[in-house]
Amino acid sequence: MQVNRQTCQECGSREARNIIVREAGRPMTVYVRCGNCGQLVAAYELKNYYHHGKGIESYLRGHGAGAEDSGRRWLDEFKQVQERAQSGYQSALEKLAQDGKEI
Ligand SMILES: [Zn+2]
Repeated sequence: MQVNRQTCQECGSREARNIIVREAGRPMTVYVRCGNCGQLVAAYELKNYYHHGKGIESYLRGHGAGAEDSGRRWLDEFKQVQERAQSGYQSALEKLAQDGKEI
């Protein structure tokens, strides 16, 4: 596993601001802006995402779940995404610590 911290190519700062854009029919996009110099650092188009602590209602809205969809399927998917987010986050933090990198 390789774990990197977002770093501005322009000034080397690790202060990042996420600008989150949602548009109908397009994947959610996160623009990473440098918190120091304001340059665009990166843009990510997300196929799947999870906002910790916001619950399944937010997840369903964000992923376009309709009334005709199976509630069980969405609940299973939400639980899997939630678990992956939490365990992946922990693993990333542990890897950074192993590599001697500050967060
Ligand atoms: Zn910068």
